[in-house]
Amino acid sequence: MSDARKLNVVPFVSVDNMMKLVNAIGVERFLVELAGFIAADFRRWELFDKTPRIASHSHDGVIELMPTSDGAVYGFKYVNGHPKNTRDGRQTVTAFGVLAEVSSGYPVLLSEMTILTALRTAATSAMAATYLAPKGARTMAIIGNGAQSEFQALAFKAILGVDRLRLYDLDRSASEKCARNLDGLGFDIAICSSGEEALAGAQIVTTVTADKQYATILTDNMVGEGLHINAVGGDCPGKTELAADILRRSDIFVEFPPQTRIEGEIQQLAHDHPVTELWRVVAGQTQGRRDARQITLFDSVGFAIEDFSALRYVREKLAGTGFYEELDLLADPDEPRDLFGMLLRAKAAPQGTPAAA
Ligand code: NAD
Repeated sequence: MSDARKLNVVPFVSVDNMMKLVNAIGVERFLVELAGFIAADFRRWELFDKTPRIASHSHDGVIELMPTSDGAVYGFKYVNGHPKNTRDGRQTVTAFGVLAEVSSGYPVLLSEMTILTALRTAATSAMAATYLAPKGARTMAIIGNGAQSEFQALAFKAILGVDRLRLYDLDRSASEKCARNLDGLGFDIAICSSGEEALAGAQIVTTVTADKQYATILTDNMVGEGLHINAVGGDCPGKTELAADILRRSDIFVEFPPQTRIEGEIQQLAHDHPVTELWRVVAGQTQGRRDARQITLFDSVGFAIEDFSALRYVREKLAGTGFYEELDLLADPDEPRDLFGMLLRAKAAPQGTPAAA
């Protein structure tokens, strides 16, 4: 984008343009660079305005707003989670987001965030795993092989070198789709017929199922010493994936505790159960994995700062690409206080001719 941006237009990244941008950069490079942006923002965590996301729950799902600001730039994401949507051919999760400059309040970017959410969730998981997974881990079980699953696999490959996958989904066709999409991308893939089978020989397990209930994707006896659990699918009140006993044996790492205590696996525990904030590990204030026998759990729910980082990365990468449209989003009368006059002139202007501002 040029510095000669018009005041009244906002760059808009559609789904189509997001796909062009991601493919032009390359998915794995995108994930690695995005993880770098997220880690950089985690290192300046204390600068940000933080609040648990604002959720509107209904019988079939949730719609959420996720705002944050670093004092110079403000961002928010609109996101839903509706596990039943896939039955009518719709996504479980869709999203869009905005960046704005704090000094004027003017938006500087509007972007699709359905694809971007999958990328940022995977980049955050893999970034967390660099501090939490056992050293040299190469085998990951992925339970739940829907929309997020390939992104998780590719982030763990690009960032940690994981190249053996053990897939399990209640619906075998989802695992087959995942294996097909990842074919030729450098993985050795096994499709398994149970969660137990998927975990055999895995040093990392990613749970990324969608079900609006207290589900038990992992039971206590499935989790052996030294495992790293990347729990992604439990991200709402009443929607979890792990048996509570696992949590009591694990060292738990979270994004923003006030949000994770409402939405994460730890909603099953006492409100003061000890957890470690991931940003402190990334900032070098505390340790991640300490020994080979420890069970580590990243209780991922997705936090606003990760979306902020993702939008910040996209904005930087857009420059000079043309992968955006200019959206006429802001009124721009010649005289700022003459908003109504602009409306009158638009009415008077012959059809099809632009009204003078
Ligand atoms: P999706 O609907 O595309 O895929 C979910 C898959 O899980 C489906 O294939 C389904 O068959 C499978 N599944 C459901 N119950 C199962 C079970 N008991 N055992 C094995 N497989 C099971 O959904 P998605 O877009 O991939 O999202 C997955 C989950 O991740 C959702 O719950 C979503 O809310 C969550 N999510 C979390 C974050 C985060 O930041 N933590 C971000 C995005 C999505």
